Parts: sequence; structure tokens; C-alpha cells
Amino acid sequence: MNKIVAIDGPAGSGKGTITQIIADKCHLVNIDTGATYRCVALAALRHGLTLDDKEAIIDLSSKINITFDETGHVFLDGEDVSEEIRGKEVTTFVSPVSSIVEVRTNMVALQRQMALGHDVIMEGRDITTVVFPNAQYKFYLDASLEERAKRRYAQNQEKGIEMSYEEVLDNIKKRDYNDMHKEVGSLIRTDDAIYIDTTNMTIDEVANKMINIIEGD
Ligand code: C5P
Repeated sequence: MNKIVAIDGPAGSGKGTITQIIADKCHLVNIDTGATYRCVALAALRHGLTLDDKEAIIDLSSKINITFDETGHVFLDGEDVSEEIRGKEVTTFVSPVSSIVEVRTNMVALQRQMALGHDVIMEGRDITTVVFPNAQYKFYLDASLEERAKRRYAQNQEKGIEMSYEEVLDNIKKRDYNDMHKEVGSLIRTDDAIYIDTTNMTIDEVANKMINIIEGD
């Protein structure tokens, strides 16, 4: 049976960075499920769609081609959109887009298909509950709201994404609320996922703790 490591947690909890470190060290394929929703949001924006065009967004989500390469780059219909999907516009639009139930059905099917035949590490909001509820390893990463906003702000600065700290904080607050109140695929902390509060931990401390668990048996 293939190994599946499932990780959920709110925006800025360190999931993305830590998942990449563990993927490299443990030779797991990294599937960034947030990026799949971001691609749908980007495609919808490019088609000039708004949330009033629900049917068109659903249709688009079933037609676009989303792929990743080994270095974690994300491709939308063959075009490298790794940077564009982290921009302000997509970041603001993605949470409501990912609330559309049919979009979720399409993305969950795609994510499961991407995992087929591989040892994978997958992070998102509903991986431990919906995508792979029977994963061998399940984690929930968390951190205080302020710490998460601080981290995301610093990340944005590095990438040249122009958002003030207040904008980042506000976006994370809204996404937290939206991500925890979805009709389907809400972010839920379950009892069988190992909970790690990363607020006062370094990235390496968190990654090593998780690697010890994953490689411990
Ligand atoms: O993880 P990331 O911040 O890139 O995710 C972008 C958005 O996609 C999240 O705010 C959330 O609304 C949505 N998402 C989701 N389910 C996932 C992963 C992400 O609904 N498994």
C-alpha cells in the first residue's frame, strides 16, 4: 500500500513549507491541494467570472488542466502559474471559489488521482477528513492568528507580493472563517489527527517532530 501523509491546518500554519521539507527528506510526492483551488480561482478571474457565475466556474473547474512538476511548480493548461496563484487577487477570490461544492468534488477527484500509485504528502483543509480520511499519518498544524499573519506577511515580502500586514491579517481572518464554515470540506480538527501548535516552534523543529513520527515505524 502506498504511504499517505495527510496534513490540514489554517493559512499560515506552516503547512506548505514544512510539507516541502518532509517531501524532500522522506522522498514523498508533494501535492499542494490549495494550489488546485488557486488554479480554479485564477482561471475564473482570467475569464472575467465573478461569484455570480457559479455554473461557469464549475464548468471551468472540470475542464482546466492542473499539473505539478517535481520542484513544486504549478501549471494551468501547461503555463507555469506558480507565482500568479499566490498574488492578492487570487488569494482574495480562492476561498469563496473553493466553497462551491461541485468545484470541491472536481478537485478532490483530481487530488486523489494525482496520488495514485505514489507515496504522497498532501496538505490542505480537508485532507484528513475528506480526501484521505484513512491516511496512515494525519496531522493538524496550527498557530496563533498573529503569528500566522506575521509569517505570511514575511513570505509575501520575500516573493514581492504587495500586501500590507493589515491586509494579510484581514485576509487570513476571512479565510479562517470561510474555511471553517463550508457546506462541504470545512477545516476541522479531528481527534485522530496529531495536533501540533507551531506558534513557538521553528520550521525544523516541526518538520523533525513529524519525520520522527512518519519514519518511526
Ligand atoms: O493552502 P492555501 O492557502 O494555498 O489554500 C488556498 C485556499 O484554498 C484556502 O484558503 C481554502 O479556502 C482552499 N482550500 C480548500 N481545501 C483544500 C486546500 C485549500 O478549500 N484542501
